Amino acid sequence: MTEPIDRATAWPYDERGDPREFYYSRDGHPTGAAAERELGSLEGGDALLFASGMGAATAVVLAFAQPGTTIALAEGAYFGTAVLFRDLARWGIHLVEFDQTGPPPDADIVWVEAPANPVLTLPDWDSVRSHRGLKVCDATVATPVYLRALDEGADVVIHSATKFLTGHHDALLGATATRDPAHTERLHATRSHAGITAAPDAAGSLLRGLETLDVRMRRHTETATELARRLRAHPAVTLVRYPGFSGLVSFDVDGDPRSVETATRLISNQTSLGGVRSSLESRYRWEGDRIPRGLVRLSVGLEDADELWADLDQALAGSG
Ligand code: PLP
Repeated sequence: MTEPIDRATAWPYDERGDPREFYYSRDGHPTGAAAERELGSLEGGDALLFASGMGAATAVVLAFAQPGTTIALAEGAYFGTAVLFRDLARWGIHLVEFDQTGPPPDADIVWVEAPANPVLTLPDWDSVRSHRGLKVCDATVATPVYLRALDEGADVVIHSATKFLTGHHDALLGATATRDPAHTERLHATRSHAGITAAPDAAGSLLRGLETLDVRMRRHTETATELARRLRAHPAVTLVRYPGFSGLVSFDVDGDPRSVETATRLISNQTSLGGVRSSLESRYRWEGDRIPRGLVRLSVGLEDADELWADLDQALAGSG
């Protein structure tokens, strides 16, 4: 049962005049805590919610990096993460990008994405595990249904919970999961100090989303597997990337990918991913030469597979 959302920003101190568990919502609030318990039990750790996925990423950097820190980031990982880290050069933080299918270079923080959005590679967990640095895994696309990154050796799991975890295109939200109480405490303190706490309404959306996460992820996977199979056989498609689970499929076309993305009708041409309705976009407009020019990222929703295929097929017919 989804719990009622408590929108208060402050709660009375106890009879001795001391703060109770909840006293000011920037520090924490009941709806957030309820959602954190649910997500934490799925991840096998302690979850914390943030105002967005990038808010969670920022908290990790503020909590664990300092001038001189080197971050090794998986190539082809979410563009916004790379942009944030590049920007942090001003604060003396060095970014190196590496192919996560092999061992990471020496660094203080290793940041993998499982799978990477949009190139959909997976990390080499054996190499990540034996690395000396703090291990961070963005598991937005896998979700805990397909990956418990803490079990694989990550110290910090991060999510854009805006995506599959809430799943209904109506909440901006981020999350971390950690096992070491010292890591959790630092992230919690950073969240409060920086003011990047999730809103109660967004936390309420996560509580609702988690109730159907498992069934949604299985349906996303079933349909995406079928669409990836049909895309592989399509003459206008030169390459299909699909890791075999979750709802994200990237495919390359020879011609201008805009002719494909603007020709779909059921599948909306917009950014973001992980919701109940399918969407697609070419990523070149955002990422430039960082990714192949013809790459189209398709987020497979919960619609009928044949209807989605009919839409893609007619859109691909005009490409090239
Ligand atoms: N990580 C991944 C893998 C993403 O796809 C995104 C957003 O697309 C983010 C992080 C950032 O999350 P948010 O948009 O919730 O800030």
